[in-house]
Amino acid sequence: MIAENLKIVREAIDRKCFEVNRQPSEIKLIAVSKNFGIDYINEAIKLGLSDFGENRAQELDKKHEILGDKITWHFIGNLQRNKVRFVVNSAEFIHSVDSLLLASEINKCAGKKNKIQKVLLQIKTSKEETKSGLTEFSEIRDLALYCKDFSNLDLAGLMTIAPFTDDKDLIRKSFTQLRKLKERLNSENLNLKELSMGMTSDYEIAIEEGATMLRIGSGIFGERDYSKDWKENL
Ligand SMILES: *Cc1c(COP(=O)(O)O)cnc(C)c1O
Repeated sequence: MIAENLKIVREAIDRKCFEVNRQPSEIKLIAVSKNFGIDYINEAIKLGLSDFGENRAQELDKKHEILGDKITWHFIGNLQRNKVRFVVNSAEFIHSVDSLLLASEINKCAGKKNKIQKVLLQIKTSKEETKSGLTEFSEIRDLALYCKDFSNLDLAGLMTIAPFTDDKDLIRKSFTQLRKLKERLNSENLNLKELSMGMTSDYEIAIEEGATMLRIGSGIFGERDYSKDWKENL
């Protein structure tokens, strides 16, 4: 099933890239493996996937312990400061930095490991209360500047989650906002490269709006089974 799903996703990415005159090679496909067990991930690796996303520190830590660094791990969930060291130990990218305190803790843990941690700032581009992330431009710019100054952080770009809706215009607005924000920051020499946006239901719009990282879970692995927790699914 993963093979067929992945074929559909890859074809859709290629088609969309062709339509909007982009190269598929500029887009990193991150398979969001949260709640899926090791067998699923191994099968996806066989099919050529190398980047996997997790949203719980403990789950990422466990999977990293089992599968190691043959995978490029992405942390995409809310991160509490007391879990930072686990995530710094395993993740190549942390997509969800939304405060100076968190950035500073990541910098500190990365320093202890002699690592330059790649991070993205999570931006809230929808009005949904449940979504986290930064909203004010001045706040975003200040945090971006701090991240640039931290010697063990490499600020790679911005991440957002579009609103959960069927309204395509609203989804597009959210992605356009992130793209423009990157352009505005880059006009102030911040030199950001990545736009992490687009999930199973909206990745084609994200490609049109300039996404460089797609985070796709159910579109690759199928529906997540939330009746069991991640440990039972492992
Ligand atoms: C779960 C998750 C995804 C993937 O969602 P799908 O709809 O399964 O593709 C992407 N980004 C974040 C932050 C997530 O938590």
